[in-house]
Amino acid sequence: MNRSKSHQLYTLAKELMPGGVNSAARAFGAVGGEPIIIESGDGPYIYDVDGNQYIDYIGSWGPMILGHQHPKVKAALHSVIDKGTSFGAPTEAENDLAQLIIEAIPSVDMVRMVSSGTEATMSAIRLARGYTDRDLIVKFAGNYHGHVDSLLVAAGSAAATLSVPNSPGVTAATGKDTMVLEYNDVSGFESAMKEQGDKIACVIMEPVCGNMGCVTPTKEFLRVVRSLTEKHGIVLIFDEVMCGFRVAYGGAQSLYGVTPDLTTMGKIVGGGLPLGAFGGKREIMQNILPAGKVFQAGTLSGNPVATAAGITTLTELRDNPPYEHLESITARLEAGLRKEAEANGISFQTNRVGSMLTFFFADQPVIGWESAAKCDTEKFAKYFWGLMDRGVYMPCSQYEALFVSATHSEEIIDQSISAAGEVFAEITD
Ligand SMILES: *Cc1c(COP(=O)(O)O)cnc(C)c1O
Repeated sequence: MNRSKSHQLYTLAKELMPGGVNSAARAFGAVGGEPIIIESGDGPYIYDVDGNQYIDYIGSWGPMILGHQHPKVKAALHSVIDKGTSFGAPTEAENDLAQLIIEAIPSVDMVRMVSSGTEATMSAIRLARGYTDRDLIVKFAGNYHGHVDSLLVAAGSAAATLSVPNSPGVTAATGKDTMVLEYNDVSGFESAMKEQGDKIACVIMEPVCGNMGCVTPTKEFLRVVRSLTEKHGIVLIFDEVMCGFRVAYGGAQSLYGVTPDLTTMGKIVGGGLPLGAFGGKREIMQNILPAGKVFQAGTLSGNPVATAAGITTLTELRDNPPYEHLESITARLEAGLRKEAEANGISFQTNRVGSMLTFFFADQPVIGWESAAKCDTEKFAKYFWGLMDRGVYMPCSQYEALFVSATHSEEIIDQSISAAGEVFAEITD
């Protein structure tokens, strides 16, 4: 496959931008080699600047559930642009999007819009601290909530409270206010709550995790997290930036029937434009400025262009739900990959919820960061490049979920499976 123009542009990009990218995950750091430079997308396909076509299983890391250039989203964008692109003042469209979100997500009585998922989680945490008047927060290892300082920490070696920054620039003091626990570890959670529960402002979690690969919570884990946070007056935040409107229209909380106090959203809610949101119980949300005292603001929040894409995407998902199709073709992809891997003697695990799927090069079930960390990432890198060379664009890390869009057909899925079969044959032990 000729990638000479990508190479040329990426070489220049590295001079202009750190690592040649505007978001670290794009640089193919985990699989080696250079990223391809994208020219366009259409339905389930993306095209690079050298004219190569790829079946897209990233979908902009989640937002493109309707596929690229969905005709209704495109039309909405064209028409909104004729009215001006930003006013920094209220618009009617913000009511429309707020109403759609409130109707869709069970826990949300009121919502505030922001411009990214990171802003949503950052603001939700400030709100939870302001509302409870407590400092400590809890997150789970392997869950990602954007590049918020207080969430860029890893579990320390000794006591659960002594977390360590996992980026230079995050202060040790910040780390001390964040407790990192193991996902799906019921007894670990119970003892942390017993010791510190009354000092904790919030527990933030991905209710379907996508950021250590796809990992699902056990029923028991979800039940215990909900009941103990309630008992200790802790705000439970479901970070549904990735799984909201993805695993079901009403998010993971509607799928599992567990209702958090606050929910953060991003990705699909903006239909491919920069938009995030957080919402929840009226009693908590009313504490945000100017209704309450917790500071929150944004020049481009509720921006009309982003809002138009969000409204159109959610309306389409509500009125023509693709979820059955997504379930059936992603199950087909999972079954096909399993069959090909087995035939080639590959050690693997798969985790899937709806159209989120990860194929792990692991020989034990992946249920949290401890088990995820044991994957054979070198084998994953070979798998990734083998698929790239066959026109299949998968997430460039073992620790990401792939996404299927409503425009992926059975034929496209079958093509991807047979490409994977060829790759497995090359990388068999
Ligand atoms: C992507 C993601 C974020 C961060 O959203 P950005 O828009 O990239 O800032 C937060 N939480 C989860 C679960 C995500 O998947």
